[in-house]
Amino acid sequence: QPHFQVRNLHVSIDEKQILKGLDLEIKGGEVHAIMGPNGTGKSTLASALMGHPKYTITDGSVTLDGQDVLEMSVTERARAGLFLAMQYPSEVPGVSNANFIRTAINSRLGEGNEVPVLQFHRQLVKEMKNLSMDPSFSERYLNEGFSGGEKKRNEILQMAMLKPRISILDEIDSGLDIDALKIVAQGVNAQRSAETGFLIITHYQRLLDYIVPDFVHVMMQGKIVRSGGKELALELEAKGYDWLKAELGIVD
Ligand code: ADP
Ligand code: MG
Ligand code: MG
Repeated sequence: QPHFQVRNLHVSIDEKQILKGLDLEIKGGEVHAIMGPNGTGKSTLASALMGHPKYTITDGSVTLDGQDVLEMSVTERARAGLFLAMQYPSEVPGVSNANFIRTAINSRLGEGNEVPVLQFHRQLVKEMKNLSMDPSFSERYLNEGFSGGEKKRNEILQMAMLKPRISILDEIDSGLDIDALKIVAQGVNAQRSAETGFLIITHYQRLLDYIVPDFVHVMMQGKIVRSGGKELALELEAKGYDWLKAELGIVD
């Protein structure tokens, strides 16, 4: 079972301190949600954990099963089983969706352990069907011309195919209508098991009606300021963030 641990994480972008001492522990089987106002550093956390070069770690540690994640390249992090579904997935013209996913899987499995092509395609067809994706999406260029909702589904398809140990989903609900939201949530729920842990980043509580978290964390100004169970998300939905800011004496 995976054990992911973030301790006292400090991250800056262009000399500007964004994360200011963030702690988080995710074990296999657990779903953690991070909520928080816009601009508070949620996407920064996601990108920094995946090793995006724009983000500088100025203090703290990140480990997966005791291994130092911060020492790993982006590829090594993916190989270790970290996965990020991005808030704004990039379009990659010239690379088909199927090839992109197969390359990612094979990179993860390592040389000599590549997945057989037929087995890969069978699995891909099955997962696309589960996500109600048209079969034509396997040969289309990665995210090129995809609608917002199609991009989100495609991120979940990659996750379903890669079977990560820790999945970070950044605003996977943004821009989705209720039907697409349910499909995406089902896709996530189908992957829940003791072998994998989730970090669900969302601005809205609605997603958490469909992906019910074990833990909810509120992030403000680069830190987790409160943690609780799923009821915390409902409280935020009902009352907004201002009461918590007032309680904590946060002024922005
Ligand atoms: P959230 O995801 O919670 O909305 P972000 O992590 O996107 O917040 O942003 C946190 C802060 O970092 C914001 O003040 C934002 O303007 C800043 N920021 C994010 N990305 C960049 C970037 N690439 N360059 C400069 N500033 C950035
Ligand atoms: Mg934002
Ligand atoms: Mg964001």
